[in-house]
Amino acid sequence: MSLKIFINGQLFDKDDAKISVYDHGLLYGDGVFEGLRSYSGRVFRLEQHLRRLWDSAKAIWLEIPMSREAMAAAINETLRANKLTDAYIRLVVTRGAGSLGLDPNRTSHPQVIIITDKIQLYPEEMYEKGLEIITVNTQRNHPAALSPRIKSLNYLNNILAKIEGLQAGCVEALMLNHKGEVAECTGDNIFLVRDGILSTPPKDAGILEGVTREAVMELATQAGIQVREIPLTKHDVYIADECFLTGTAAEVIPVVKVDSRVIGAGTPGKMTRDLKQRFHRLARE
Ligand code: PMP
Repeated sequence: MSLKIFINGQLFDKDDAKISVYDHGLLYGDGVFEGLRSYSGRVFRLEQHLRRLWDSAKAIWLEIPMSREAMAAAINETLRANKLTDAYIRLVVTRGAGSLGLDPNRTSHPQVIIITDKIQLYPEEMYEKGLEIITVNTQRNHPAALSPRIKSLNYLNNILAKIEGLQAGCVEALMLNHKGEVAECTGDNIFLVRDGILSTPPKDAGILEGVTREAVMELATQAGIQVREIPLTKHDVYIADECFLTGTAAEVIPVVKVDSRVIGAGTPGKMTRDLKQRFHRLARE
C-alpha cells in the first residue's frame, strides 16, 4: 500500500502528492513547518506543536487556511489512512503558488501538507554511549534577520551547520548565537548539568523553543531539580558534569564529548539517564 499524503483536504498516494514548482515554499523557502511524533496512536503535545506552527505563521504574515481543530483532525485522519501508530509527522504550510518574484501578495492558496511516516531513530548505541558533537563556525541566524523562534522552511542556517558537523563526523553540531553564546544544535535543544542544577539557554538565545525542551523542564521541576534558563558559553559546556540534547525525534540523548573535551565522566550522566527515562514514560503513558 502506498503511503498517503494529505494536501489541502485530500489524501494522495505518495507518488501523486505534488505541488506547483511556482510555490514560494520551494522558490524562496517561504512557509513554515512542524515536526511531531505519535506514540501508540496518540500525538505527543499536539496543542503545543499547533500553537508553535500558528505562531511561526503569524510571524511571517502567513494565514493558515484551516482551523487548528481541522488540522488536528487531518493529522489523525492521515495517521489512520496509513495505519500508523508510532510515527513521525511533518506539517508544512507554504505561501502557495505565485509569480516569480518575492512578493507574497502575488501568491494564492497556501498549501497545507501533512506527511506521516515511520520514525527514523538514532541507533540505540548513541543513547547508551552518548554523542560526540562539535561547535560549528556557522552562527545561528541573527534574530533581527530571521528569528530562530520561527520554524520556517528557510532551514539553510541549520543545514550549513549540520554539514559542518557531518564533515567532522558528528551527527549533531552545536551552534552559537551572534553574541557567541550557546544557542542550540541544528535540530535539537541543549541542556547542561552542573552541581545538580539543570541549565538551558533562554528563548532569546537564538533557539527554537522545543516542545521536548519544555516537557523536560517540567519533568525536572517535578523531580525537584532546579532548572535555569540562562545564557551559557562554550566554557560552561566544557566544564559541565553532564550534557544532553532534546528534540521530537531524538527525545533525550546524552552528549559525552564536545570539541574533543570529555564531558563529566565521559559516559551518560545520572540526571540525563533519569530525565531520559521520565520523558520516555511521559511520551508513552
Ligand atoms: N531546535 C531546532 C532548530 C529544531 O528544528 C528542533 C525541532 N527538530 C528543535 C530545536 C527541538 O524542538 P522539538 O522538541 O519541538 O522537536
